[in-house]
Amino acid sequence: PADVKTLGRHTWTLLHTMAAYYPEKPEKKQQESMKTFFESFSEHYPCWFCKNDFKKDMAENPIDVTSRETLSEWLCRRHNKVNEKLGKKQFDCSKVFERWMTGPAN
Ligand code: FAD
Repeated sequence: PADVKTLGRHTWTLLHTMAAYYPEKPEKKQQESMKTFFESFSEHYPCWFCKNDFKKDMAENPIDVTSRETLSEWLCRRHNKVNEKLGKKQFDCSKVFERWMTGPAN
């Protein structure tokens, strides 16, 4: 089985990449399905304490599916919340596209 760190690293890769490639001007249907995706994700993420905190954080900070920009920023902040909890460095959210879309894959 995957440990919490490996699972987390790979999951963030998927989530940030999804946000970076989300349309700049999404259709209503795309907005709804992205919202549904994150709701389901927070229900089924297979780390129960991560999931519980993430659900609470999502309830306090509702997802913003208006555009690629707003979704990526929202997700960056959610990830920074987890970073803070774990005593990790805060990520500069102005670098989110450089990291997850235009920059070299790491
Ligand atoms: P990660 O945090 O996995 O980050 C991977 C890469 O993303 C970094 O190298 C960096 O380049 C980039 N990055 C970092 N911060 C940001 C940001 N804010 N925005 C964009 N890119 C960024 N672990 C726990 O122990 N307890 C928890 O409660 C917990 N909750 C989690 C909740 C969720 C929804 C997820 C997906 C993971 C959670 N994790 C949790 C796992 C944890 O966040 C890390 O994934 C894990 O500790 C491995 O950390 P890492 O140092 O490899 O980098």
